[in-house]
Amino acid sequence: MKDAYSRDVTYLRLSVTDLCDLRCRYCMPAGGVPKLPRGGVCSVEELVEITRQAVRLGVRKVRLTGGEPLVRRGIVEICRGVAALDGVEELCLTTNGTALSRFAGPLREAGVDRLNVSLDTLRPDRFAHMTRTGRLEDVLRGLEAARAAGFTGTKLNVVLMDGFNRDEIPDFVELARRSPLEVRFIELMPIGQGTRERFLPAAAVLDACPELEEAESSGVARRYRIPGGMGLVGLIEPMSRRFCRGCDRIRVTADGRLKPCLHSDREIPLRGLSGEALRRAIAGGIAAKPPHHSMAETGRSGASRNMNQIGG
Ligand code: SAM
Ligand code: SF4
Repeated sequence: MKDAYSRDVTYLRLSVTDLCDLRCRYCMPAGGVPKLPRGGVCSVEELVEITRQAVRLGVRKVRLTGGEPLVRRGIVEICRGVAALDGVEELCLTTNGTALSRFAGPLREAGVDRLNVSLDTLRPDRFAHMTRTGRLEDVLRGLEAARAAGFTGTKLNVVLMDGFNRDEIPDFVELARRSPLEVRFIELMPIGQGTRERFLPAAAVLDACPELEEAESSGVARRYRIPGGMGLVGLIEPMSRRFCRGCDRIRVTADGRLKPCLHSDREIPLRGLSGEALRRAIAGGIAAKPPHHSMAETGRSGASRNMNQIGG
């Protein structure tokens, strides 16, 4: 279905939980988030029904996210249910990777096509500091398990932060050179715990690695080849290059509220609806997509919930 600005909405980002085993400083408060009451998050059946109706409106690609999707009980069942729907052409999952060594095989068998793994540093001490609770070795083991389970086209999400990982840009590019990964540098957004102090424009990657050669862009990412390398480098620049004109997505939070835009507080409750009523509510959400966000002008996202609650 097209929105009011003729953008074809084909991509659903579905949050399956707002809980997480990590406490990344730019995403989660140190103490985590209060657990929603029992029944506060959508059931497996509700998630599948939301996807079924979204697909009838033209959604083709689904991404499961959170919070950390791998801490959600029933995640493999959710993947299986969504992957089995007619019309879902691509099922992806975004994870911090800490539990991937256990889940890679089951996710693959359940029908997940591709993974995005978030990893902001390759140094164990920095990883422990940034995530407050995590161990880098778990994520590295998870990446290896994903490869062994047959996942290809895995993307590594790296949020760029000045004074934290700027000096690691060449290390990440080197990783993409010697492995078939797409390393995606993402600009830090002033949403949730994210502040502007550490913001670093993604163009810093091109300054640090002038050898990168422009390649075909993909979705919201500008992409680059590394001479002689196996992988790719992508730049995602919500702050420096607003890509709203090509926005093709809607989001649904773990508590079942459709967000027409990540950076707006407008939310459309979907719980309790099914069939045609649900489809009409989703269509209303698509029609309500604003033309663009205004973070560059206002300095802050218009959304007041944290990324872990919205589904990044
Ligand atoms: N827990 C999973 C993970 O970390 O991949 C999925 C949810 S997480 C909210 C999804 C993505 O959002 C991660 O890549 C994370 O780095 C990113 N993210 C969170 N807060 C952000 C912010 N303020 N600016 C930019 N990216 C952010
Ligand atoms: Fe958890 Fe992902 Fe947020 Fe880190 S970015 S705290 S892993 S939800």
